[in-house]
This record gives sequence, structure tokens and C-alpha cells, in this order.
Amino acid sequence: MTPSHSPYPGPLSAEDKNKLDALYARLSKGVPYLTGYPCNQHYDYSEIAPFLGFSANNIGDPWLNSNYALNSLEFERDVINRFGQWLHAPADDLWGYVTNGGTEGNMYGLYLARELHPGGIVYYSEDTHYSVNKIIHVLGMRSIMIRSQENGEMDYDDLRATVQLNRDKPPIIFANIGTTMKQAIDNLPKIKEILQKMAISRYYIHSDAALSGAYLPFIENAPAFDFGAGAHSISISGHKFIGSPTPCGVAMALKSNVQRIGRAIEYVGAMDTTIPGSRSAITPLILWYALHRQGEKGMRILTNQCLEMAEYAVQAMNKAGIPAWRNAHAVTVVFPRPGDNLIRKWSLAPYRDIAHLITMGHITRQTVDNIIADLTAEMQGKEQKACNS
Ligand SMILES: *Cc1c(COP(=O)(O)O)cnc(C)c1O
Repeated sequence: MTPSHSPYPGPLSAEDKNKLDALYARLSKGVPYLTGYPCNQHYDYSEIAPFLGFSANNIGDPWLNSNYALNSLEFERDVINRFGQWLHAPADDLWGYVTNGGTEGNMYGLYLARELHPGGIVYYSEDTHYSVNKIIHVLGMRSIMIRSQENGEMDYDDLRATVQLNRDKPPIIFANIGTTMKQAIDNLPKIKEILQKMAISRYYIHSDAALSGAYLPFIENAPAFDFGAGAHSISISGHKFIGSPTPCGVAMALKSNVQRIGRAIEYVGAMDTTIPGSRSAITPLILWYALHRQGEKGMRILTNQCLEMAEYAVQAMNKAGIPAWRNAHAVTVVFPRPGDNLIRKWSLAPYRDIAHLITMGHITRQTVDNIIADLTAEMQGKEQKACNS
């Protein structure tokens, strides 16, 4: 037990208290306008709040027991096992841990690929998340960017031709399972077929499923992207579709591969298998809580709700004369880039001439209608100006 007296000599100063209150007010006001980034705001983790009272830490490999007794490793393993089942991980060959987000999971996947295939080349499409350039740079890997198709999916002819030119080096495919801007899904069966036709037997596939990986398992006949489809590692963000007050995610890989490189670092003196040292014991609890409260049933309901909202947004925008569209199975609605005022007001993530709305759990029809009203007013304003000049 902690001592009962306050650890601090006095209360927060009035000035500091005001600052804190102002931040709370600003964040509260911002929630309904958070529409362009894939961060679900609809959750209730109040049952977990008491755990902020412990210096808990999940340092080290979650599958080995730790000497640091204040941990939630058991809950972390449960989260990974649950995702493993949904993602068709082979029985007894699953390893993973709860990360600080999708980027860390991608770094873990590429790190593992590099250790298994030194000298391999990373292939990734133009539409890949901006963090991947940094990861490749940090890891010192060779890489080649592949062209994208108009919908954001990898151009498979370009992949085939490029791998053909470098067929003496093991390909490490960085597959987008939902690109950041258009949520396009690279076709894993097609990629595997390309590699097999070239008789390439040494290769690695990492699935970056930051947003889509948390809900594709709950759609009938969804595109194959998981361990069952041949991925060797998968990264998913926890704060995107599921929602979390602090960024988190899961990194998953085949245990047999992790053990092969585990030996390589054992001589440094530790089974230091995760990228960070100290790790949050709270984020595994958050994900555990969400997955247990939702269950498969809740995840299916949330998935359908978000997909229906995306379809509603496309239809309503088209009706209002806005040429919006979305990829199959996407909750990302792409439309022409509006002016900076609307981008700021609705936190719309712009890229060149497009912007997008992502229908996460907290987005209502009212929100969609309000955005459309703003977009329409902006278009009419422009027409007015054009007439007057
Ligand atoms: C968001 C995103 C990432 C990065 O995830 P973080 O959780 O923000 O680190 C990586 N890839 C894709 C496709 C993403 O959408």
C-alpha cells in the first residue's frame, strides 16, 4: 500500500489549475470535430482508471515471466492470443506484444525480416505510410518503391518486373492492408502468386494492417491478409478502430521466426525480444478490456456500424454533388480537398488534391451531414465569387 499522506507539499496553483481546465475544455470541444483521422472516440475505460495508481511495467518478453512483479503480462498474452485467433495464426506458433502503435509494429516486422534475410530488399508501394521510410532508414535496409494504382493499391506488374530484376536478393514485401489515404488493400494472394511463379522460395511478407486489421476479421469474404494468407508478421494500431486514450497497438509474428533471431541476441545476455525496454502495463489492459467488453459480437456490430456510416457518407456526398468514393471494405471516404478552413475545423487529413473522412465509432449521421453542409456552402461561395468576377 502507498502511504496515505499526499506525495506533494501543496495543491496545484490556481494558474496551473486553470491551464489544466482550459486543456480539458479544448479537448472536449474538439471531439465531435475529429473526423479525418482514424481514432475512435467512443469508449469507456473508467473501470481501468484505478490502475493509474501503480508503477506497473511490462518490461521484456510478455511470454516469459518477469522479475518485475507489478505487471499485466497475463492480460497482454490474452490480447495477443485473441488477435492471433482472429488472424488465423498457426496453433503454437504465435508470438507478439502490445506496442506503442502501428509504427512500432511495422518496425518490429521489418527488423525480424532483416534478421531472417540479411541482404533482402524491402518492396513497398508509393501509398505506404510515411513512417516506413524512416523505419527502413533506421534499420539500414535496402528498399525499392513500387508504383501504385489509382485506387491506392500496389501495381503488381511493377512489383513483378522489379523483383525479377533483383531476384538474387530475398524480397521483403511490406503489404498495405489499408493505405493511410485511400485505405486500399494490397492483394496478398496475388503477391504470393507472383513470387511463386518466379520460383522464389526465400521471401518475407509483413502486413501493415494499422486500421483495417482490427475489423476485417469480422467481415464475411474479406480480403485475405493475415497469417492464413501467408503474412509472416502483422501490425495493428489499438487506438484507431478500437479506440484508446493513449496510443497503442499489437505486433504479431511467427514464434518460430522470433526464436531463430532470439538465439542471435541471446549472447548479449537477455531475451530482449521487444523493441522498447520498459513497456506500458496500461495499454495491454485497455485492449484486454475493449476486446472482452466487445467480444466478437460487439466487434461485428461496430464493424457494420462504421461500414454503413461510410456508405451513408458516400451516398449523401454524391447526392450533394461531391464526387466522394471509397474502396471496398473501407471506412475511409475520399473526396476533393476543401479549403484550409474546413480542413482545420474538421481535422481532415489532406494529401495533394484529396482529403478524407474516416467513419470511426464516434461519427454520427449528424456529423456527416454537418460536414456536407460546410462543403456545400464552400462550393457555393466559390461559384458566387466566380459569377461576380
Ligand atoms: C496509422 C498508420 C500507421 C501508423 O500507426 P501509428 O499507430 O500511428 O504508429 C501505419 N500504417 C498505416 C497504413 C496507418 O494508417
